[in-house]
Formats: sequence, C-alpha cells, structure tokens
Amino acid sequence: MSNMISLLRKQVQENGKAEIDIDMFNQLQNEWITRCDIDCLPFVYKNIKTNEERKILLTAAEIRPFVEDELYERLTACDCTSIGETNVIECNCEDKFEDFELQLN
Ligand SMILES: [Zn+2]
Repeated sequence: MSNMISLLRKQVQENGKAEIDIDMFNQLQNEWITRCDIDCLPFVYKNIKTNEERKILLTAAEIRPFVEDELYERLTACDCTSIGETNVIECNCEDKFEDFELQLN
C-alpha cells in the first residue's frame, strides 16, 4: 500500500465506492495537504471546548476571485497626492495598466 489516496482510488475503481474511517480520513487529509503544497492554503478551525479541528483547503484559483480588487489596487498603486482641498487623487497612473491581464498558471 503506497498511500491513502491511491488506496481509495483503487477501491473506488474496483467496487465503485470506498469507505473510510476517521484515521483513514485524517491520513487522507494530511496527504492532501502535502500534495497541495504551495497551491493550497489551509485554514484551520479549532473548537476551543472539544479541541475538534476542521481544516478547509482553498486553492489559489478558489481564492483569486475574492482578492482580485486588492490585487488590482496593489498593481496600480502610485505615490500621487491629491491637489488642493479634496481627497480625490486625480492622476492617470491607472491607465498604464489598461492592457495588463492577470496571468493564470
Ligand atoms: Zn498616480
């Protein structure tokens, strides 16, 4: 037996399904985290009364839609300051990035 992911895949292929217990689930989760490596970000929740842990894994692709505004903000950030009384910054720095597209791997 090489690892839990292959074992379960084999079971599903042979029987059409696989059943796992909590130990197998935990091993599977650890393998998945290792496999995801840098592409996945784990968010861990812990019940402070029971110590029960839940891990939620999000890939970069899943996170991206939620941070796109922030990414654009940082991409187009400039040092221009507002002129006069208003707090509105009137510069054309953003225009430089009109033809920039986010590259997806
Ligand atoms: Zn500017």
